[in-house]
Amino acid sequence: MTFADLGLSPTLLEAVESAGYTVPTDIQAQAIPPILMMKDIVGIAQTGTGKTASFVLPMIDIMASGRRRALMPRSLILAPTRELAAQVAENFEKYGKNHDLKLALLIGGVQMGDQIKALNDGVDVLIATPGRLMDLFERGKILLNGCELLVIDEADRMLDMGFIPDIEFICSKLPEQRQTMLFSATMPPPIEKLSKKFMNNPKRIEV
Ligand code: AMP
Repeated sequence: MTFADLGLSPTLLEAVESAGYTVPTDIQAQAIPPILMMKDIVGIAQTGTGKTASFVLPMIDIMASGRRRALMPRSLILAPTRELAAQVAENFEKYGKNHDLKLALLIGGVQMGDQIKALNDGVDVLIATPGRLMDLFERGKILLNGCELLVIDEADRMLDMGFIPDIEFICSKLPEQRQTMLFSATMPPPIEKLSKKFMNNPKRIEV
């Protein structure tokens, strides 16, 4: 199995090659083809399995094939911690270097001013912790109704940190016609329930 077998574009294959990856990990091999086919997926995978690239790579290709809507972000990635959100952003920068994608990293602990400025300038991809996203949304600084791609990363940690009500609220503000990807190391009942409520017949992938 090579990355070329998974259906990624030549531009993205170049980025993968320059990252030094030759063989896709299990989660990448199983998740990338259905994500490219616009299916919802639940990925049961730990950190360290290469799960970040398993959603970042196909999302870049999906966004490259669509129309840009600068003031309406097309993708939202929710992560439980600032560190994880920052890592996801680094992955988008690394693999998306040949694409003109504008990112906004919306995390707590930093001033909102620069984040608001980035949002006003137009963003394609929002990478956020739930608390800061809620705060900016409630201040009217973010439009979520163009987010057709949603990732909920490390859902079980979101649960431990008490973020499920925030995630439910955010999901209710996104378009119903969207693609949702949920990643979690474990699937406790509240996460199963969340996936049933907010996902459309997700394909389950366990590594
Ligand atoms: P993650 O599980 O997303 O936190 O990724 C764990 C680490 O694996 C990161 O440092 C990635 O750069 C690396 N990685 C991701 N995909 C591959 C791959 N196909 N081959 C080798 N390393 C990879």
